[in-house]
Amino acid sequence: MMQLSIEPGASRTAVRAAVLSEAPGPLRVEELGLDDWLAPDEVRVQVHSCGLCHSDLHMVDGEMPVALPTIPGHEISGTVEAVGERVTGVAVGDRVVACLSVFCGVCAECRAGRSSLCVRRNDLGRDGRPAPRLVRADGTPVNQAAGLGGFAERTILHQNSVVKVSDEVPTDRAGLLGCAVLTGIGSVLNGAKVRPGESVAVIGCGGVGLNVIQGARLAAASTIIAIDPNDENLRLAEQFGATHTVNPAAGDPIAAVTELTGGGADHVFDVVGRAPTVPQAVAMVRQGRTAWVLGIAPLGETVTLPAMPLVVANKGVQGLLMGANHFPRDIPILADLYLAGRIDLDTLVTGTISLDEVNDGFDRMRRGGAGRLIATV
Ligand SMILES: [Zn+2]
Ligand SMILES: [Zn+2]
Repeated sequence: MMQLSIEPGASRTAVRAAVLSEAPGPLRVEELGLDDWLAPDEVRVQVHSCGLCHSDLHMVDGEMPVALPTIPGHEISGTVEAVGERVTGVAVGDRVVACLSVFCGVCAECRAGRSSLCVRRNDLGRDGRPAPRLVRADGTPVNQAAGLGGFAERTILHQNSVVKVSDEVPTDRAGLLGCAVLTGIGSVLNGAKVRPGESVAVIGCGGVGLNVIQGARLAAASTIIAIDPNDENLRLAEQFGATHTVNPAAGDPIAAVTELTGGGADHVFDVVGRAPTVPQAVAMVRQGRTAWVLGIAPLGETVTLPAMPLVVANKGVQGLLMGANHFPRDIPILADLYLAGRIDLDTLVTGTISLDEVNDGFDRMRRGGAGRLIATV
């Protein structure tokens, strides 16, 4: 077991991390100092890999407000190196996956079983007290985006942001369970509660969209329609269980979904969540059913919907954050489903890069590359 300091901030371990200092801006790999002291609810994790998610890209491109300087990255898989005195859920040596749905366990939302909406989430970091977790050589604190900051060799996390997973799940795949897979499959099973035989349409077939599709397959949806302007994404969508694919460049996707489902899909999942797609999602959904919005638009973007059809057709439109997860329950289930061959994580990983190549990775995402890139740390 590693030796911890008994005094906050008294000694630090050098760690390399990819830091965002201005947005928009590239990340720069820097050497930071990680506190050798742990608060009672904290765990120290050696990071093995961290996936590149579109919300990281929004952050890097200045489309999502974030306190700088910060370390992006939240699809973390790693090993616990040390634990604080109140940590009970994980132990030194455990393989863990992190999730940004860190929860307090006692607020009104947590008590109501909606821990992914915890209202005390922002109180669970240190906020610099009694000493920052990570600092530059000159003592400047460096934040962890979403409380995680996965693009780092090792880091300190709250115990309610990690869960133990089986060593049998390869580390570069395990991290995906914490965001893309949890959000996609969770939206289908926890959020929309898709039932066997229902029809599903998915707008946007990147990492999350492909997981909505395999979630719909798990739920035994009958018709699963993938919509994406990238043919490579549509090819992957078929591999993940799409029964039909629609490229909007080749024709009106609303007409296509209406025809394929005989009047509208029972569930539409808008994984893009932008001004042009949300009205499409509402137009594609069957009367009396709900269009689920998963994608997070840049701050300030406004969605306009035709009011009358919404009421006359009795339609719902609802945001769905992080697959309405309770990740300590959901992630081990997803890991078991992977090990049983019921869900695919292998095809999801379309590339592995090093920490130093993280800016190239975001460039590949900007060009609309398919699947998920993983940074191995
Ligand atoms: Zn994410
Ligand atoms: Zn809470």
